[in-house]
Amino acid sequence: MDPIKANIERIRQRIASACARCNRDPDSVRLVAVSKVKPAALIDEAFAAGQRLFGESYVQELRDKVEDVKSPVEWHFIGNLQSNKVKYLTRHVTLIHSVDRLSLAREISRQWGKLERDARILLQVNVGDETSKAGCAITDLEQLARAVARLPHLHICGLMCLPPFHEDPEQVRPYFKVLHDLAAALARQQIPGVRMDELSMGMSGDFEVAIEEGATLVRVGTAIFGERDSSR
Ligand SMILES: *Cc1c(COP(=O)(O)O)cnc(C)c1O
Repeated sequence: MDPIKANIERIRQRIASACARCNRDPDSVRLVAVSKVKPAALIDEAFAAGQRLFGESYVQELRDKVEDVKSPVEWHFIGNLQSNKVKYLTRHVTLIHSVDRLSLAREISRQWGKLERDARILLQVNVGDETSKAGCAITDLEQLARAVARLPHLHICGLMCLPPFHEDPEQVRPYFKVLHDLAAALARQQIPGVRMDELSMGMSGDFEVAIEEGATLVRVGTAIFGERDSSR
């Protein structure tokens, strides 16, 4: 068996085990294969192994891969996004995980509106309050959600976080709980245009803990495709 196929199968098994531990339907968790900085050929290889959904963090790289990847994959955008690059995503991505400010949401609504379509987005929350990380502050989340929800061509589908890194996934669990609780609190507000169906959290080192805390989208790169160049 080639390594990518073996890796994907192992991760699927681990997702299933994590779901079994917390009585969740394994179909309620989608694996986003994070393919940033990895070549198109590896994405085709993962597709051949049954993986359909891929996450990219860099706009230009995504544009290149849309050309180069032969398989009909589904793309999510998960990285920091500048407003002036939103226009390159409209035809390619089904979900943007990383919306953390109103100006960006406005541009997404505007660009999707040009195509008479609605974008699906998640609001990214800086759960660890880290200056080095994107994401809106916890205290600003409700206000941001209310403002973004008023935009015409966009739907808020849930929340995303990139918590502080720890070797031990148990150290990350409290941040996943925070995101889960924020989503529950927002859902109770019943803001028109705001759904809290998706929780994007968990990466190679901690996706099982994230699933136990309610993740519906786990973003796994290294455990599928191997280590990346350390500069990224
Ligand atoms: C790179 C990246 C991942 C994947 O991280 P791994 O540790 O390689 O699984 C997940 N989410 C985001 C936002 C990323 O940028």
